[in-house]
Amino acid sequence: VIAVEHLKKTFGKNEVLKDISENVYDGQVICLIGPSGAGKSTFLRCLNLLDKPTAGKVFFEGDELTALDDQNLDQLRQQMGMVFQNFNLFPHKSVLENLKLAPMKVKGMTEEDATQLAQKLLQQVGLADKAEAFPNNLSGGQQQRVAIARALAMNPKVMLFDEPTSALDPEMVGEVLKVMQDLATEGMTMVVVTHEMGFAKNVANQVWFMADGYIQETNSPQEFFAHPQTERAQDFLAKIL
Ligand code: ATP
Ligand code: MG
Repeated sequence: VIAVEHLKKTFGKNEVLKDISENVYDGQVICLIGPSGAGKSTFLRCLNLLDKPTAGKVFFEGDELTALDDQNLDQLRQQMGMVFQNFNLFPHKSVLENLKLAPMKVKGMTEEDATQLAQKLLQQVGLADKAEAFPNNLSGGQQQRVAIARALAMNPKVMLFDEPTSALDPEMVGEVLKVMQDLATEGMTMVVVTHEMGFAKNVANQVWFMADGYIQETNSPQEFFAHPQTERAQDFLAKIL
């Protein structure tokens, strides 16, 4: 679904991504892990060109994103859902309105269809009874599930998650991971930056370990956690496990 070729990203003199070439295949769940400042968020944002790569190419379903003008880029970007640490819901819109907005505005869906879709998605994330609530009146876990539903409303081919549970109180982490696990089981292609090693072990097909501007190793979670190949990964795991 996504191909990355010799991706580089620098901020001023700071070389954050030095040379990354990887593929994300249909139905894969990739967990991207690594120390703080490694460039995980930057990499994720380069996948949908929220950050413009300094060099290299990014392909989505065969189209080179890095070669497109903004209008065509927007079209393809719609097919990549993104969920952030801090939910980013529209605070003065109800849950239902948050979900209906993009399908109606961007896809030209009728209000009726958008409402139906929103209700279906709210059911999927376990929030069917919160359609009329406002984000501020929901818990963090509920807000994040709304954010996931909102991304799904655009019927994306791939979902990108950047530490979706890092801002949550511990008791709410599980409900969000459960929604993500269900998505994975349904076959959604996902790239997940996370510190939740349990999720990486149980749900990911592949773990990508990033440090010092490179993806240092890619492996199955079983192999990665049992036998990390690089010293960098061994150090990292020793610190967190
Ligand atoms: P964390 O686990 O803390 O979220 P990360 O792996 O996601 O870390 P990034 O947020 O990608 O790391 O940041 C990597 C480096 O890029 C950092 O040194 C950061 O300061 C720098 N950086 C990120 N975004 C910008 C920006 N917009 N302008 C300048 N520097 C940036
Ligand atoms: Mg980050």
